[in-house]
Amino acid sequence: MKLYYIGTGAADWTAAAGAKGGVTRRFSSAVLDGRLLIDLAPTTPLSLFDEMFREVDAVLYTHSHSDHFSPEHLYRLAQTRELTVVGDARLLALLDEHPGIHRREAAADVALEVSGYTVTPLAANHRITRNPGETPLHYVIEKDGQKIFWGADGAWFPCATWAAMRRMRPYDRVVLDGTLGDEDNDNRVFEHNNLTMVGMIQKNLLGQGMLTEGGQIWLTHLSRDAHIAPDELGQELARRGLFMAKDNLEDLI
Ligand SMILES: [Zn+2]
Ligand SMILES: [Zn+2]
Repeated sequence: MKLYYIGTGAADWTAAAGAKGGVTRRFSSAVLDGRLLIDLAPTTPLSLFDEMFREVDAVLYTHSHSDHFSPEHLYRLAQTRELTVVGDARLLALLDEHPGIHRREAAADVALEVSGYTVTPLAANHRITRNPGETPLHYVIEKDGQKIFWGADGAWFPCATWAAMRRMRPYDRVVLDGTLGDEDNDNRVFEHNNLTMVGMIQKNLLGQGMLTEGGQIWLTHLSRDAHIAPDELGQELARRGLFMAKDNLEDLI
């Protein structure tokens, strides 16, 4: 598998906020094997789909927060190709009928076949006040004996999600919401992970045999202001046995 990170920033990486330590991040978006898109953020350049990602034919949406989901952006991409759009029923209900869009409803722990992948959505612990009833989702994505877990956005895991993650182990990659830094006294820890929580999740992933040999834990959806500068953060995370996602980075799995 090849996981290409298009955008790796949390919602505070606005154009107005600008670069930090010479680095900018787009909002969270990634492509698996040039085929499966995970969130089409409003900052995801559609020009990437003209050449590099011409084969993308499905979008997995995690949730409808505006840094991950823009219907207008999706309609523009759907003018260039037929797209399978996977998401919670309440997220799909936000979309208009469009001839290029084929909806696939995602429900927690119900596996779907999407573009040759087995995709299992799992409930995330995250807050969506503007679309009541929507369940935000993580995804387990599997093909040819390889498996990744995509876990942004969300804080910690609901019990049933962790149980399902354990059942489906081991993972070649676990990608976690790494929004927050080392400060524990932060109201946002109830919807995003901080590094204390990531450290505890890491201990459990390693201690309970949840990673393959060579399996790695990556952090994405990184806050601009809750972390130290990106270069220093990358080094600090490496010291802790973690990998930091960057925009335009391709992870060969
Ligand atoms: Zn977000
Ligand atoms: Zn969110």
